[in-house]
Amino acid sequence: MKPDLFEAPDYYNLDDLLSDEHKLVRDAARAWVKRDVSPIIEDYAQKAEFPKQIISGLAEIGAFGPYIPEEYGGAGLDQISYGLIMQEIERGDSGIRSTASVQSSLVMYPIWKYGNETQRKRYLPKLASGEWIGCFGLTEPDHGSNPSGMTTNFKDMGDHYLLNGAKMWISNAPFAQVAVVWAKDETGRIHGLLVERGMEGFTTPETHNKWSLRASATGELIFDNVIIPKENLLPNKSGLGAPLGCLDSARYGIAWGAIGAAMDCYDTALRYSKERMQFGKPIGQFQLQQKKLAEMITEITKAQLLTWRLGVLKNENKATSAQISMAKRNNVDMAITIARNARQMLGGMGITGEYSIMRHSMNLESVITYEGTHDIHLLITGLDITGLNAFK
Ligand SMILES: Cc1cc2nc3c(=O)[nH]c(=O)nc-3n(C[C@H](O)[C@H](O)[C@H](O)COP(=O)(O)OP(=O)(O)OC[C@H]3O[C@@H](n4cnc5c(N)ncnc54)[C@H](O)[C@@H]3O)c2cc1C
Repeated sequence: MKPDLFEAPDYYNLDDLLSDEHKLVRDAARAWVKRDVSPIIEDYAQKAEFPKQIISGLAEIGAFGPYIPEEYGGAGLDQISYGLIMQEIERGDSGIRSTASVQSSLVMYPIWKYGNETQRKRYLPKLASGEWIGCFGLTEPDHGSNPSGMTTNFKDMGDHYLLNGAKMWISNAPFAQVAVVWAKDETGRIHGLLVERGMEGFTTPETHNKWSLRASATGELIFDNVIIPKENLLPNKSGLGAPLGCLDSARYGIAWGAIGAAMDCYDTALRYSKERMQFGKPIGQFQLQQKKLAEMITEITKAQLLTWRLGVLKNENKATSAQISMAKRNNVDMAITIARNARQMLGGMGITGEYSIMRHSMNLESVITYEGTHDIHLLITGLDITGLNAFK
């Protein structure tokens, strides 16, 4: 892969809206991605393997629990810092950002928000340091967009619970030490359970042959009469709102992350357009290529503004789920369009691993699908503005 010459576009001087701390956190993440991710990521994506050696680096830049209080090992940062870290990591690779998102928002967040003090103290410091990696089991083979239909269930056996069922498409599953698993009790109410690797009857087969998020490990979670100690139930929230609360936090991170992928594609195409000569001119001098670049920077700038504002609302605890859906949907769509156009601007070179664009393009096919598909987020906006529920 070519050396990482990334220069972040900031067309509307958005840096002026960031605090010194925001810039410090972002610049540390950016430097780490250049040093530790860019040189190896293409190779790991090609061989479809998660680069485990970067786990300690992710912990050091605060990517595991950026907004979790320091007393539990988190970085104690605000929501804009969290977003900027996700942006920088996804600038490197969406698969690496997925690992960080799952760990922070889908594993640490529910333990912090819905767990008791013993659970927080047992799990959060280990997850923040990267000693343990977690995963989040919501999706099932027959229940993706409609998780309320889940069939994974647990029975109260007196001194323990008995868990049965299966989850599919679970990021980090093949090597996670702990899984936050959403399952129904005997009344049909959804609860979160902490399932640890090594529990009898719990297996995590890896999902192979992905053309997308190849540097992120994906797998199944299979529960065959797994005995779960009663103290492993998250006590402070139940019902579908519990997993959806985690998804809000993760989707917010994705909205920022997608900007990172788009920035990388734009920056690569811009540089290439000044270097690549055809018909005796740099291709950037042709109007058709300028149109592509001008539209890219316009869309990136709009997404940056939308997302920064969402971050301010989130810091004030005012961001709604529907506002987060809008940003996730808009930004991933924006990024996937930019990746496609940037790929074309590089001609044949665009399909190779010499450049990051094709990898971003393929990764974004997962990002536009997970954490609520593009269609589902549109329906969430539709429901919010009309009050009429298209899901029923
Ligand atoms: C790489 C990867 C990693 C993932 N990681 C995780 C993870 O860590 N944990 C986890 O729990 N899940 C994870 N997922 C699962 C992901 O969240 C689901 O794939 C996603 O929610 C969609 O579910 P589905 O694949 O079953 O598609 P389906 O729900 O079957 O949807 C198929 C199509 O139908 C459309 N559709 C569905 N319902 C409606 C409707 N009411 N109206 C209109 N259109 C509709 C969808 O938009 C989509 O286009 C991951 C997925 C991938 C690909």
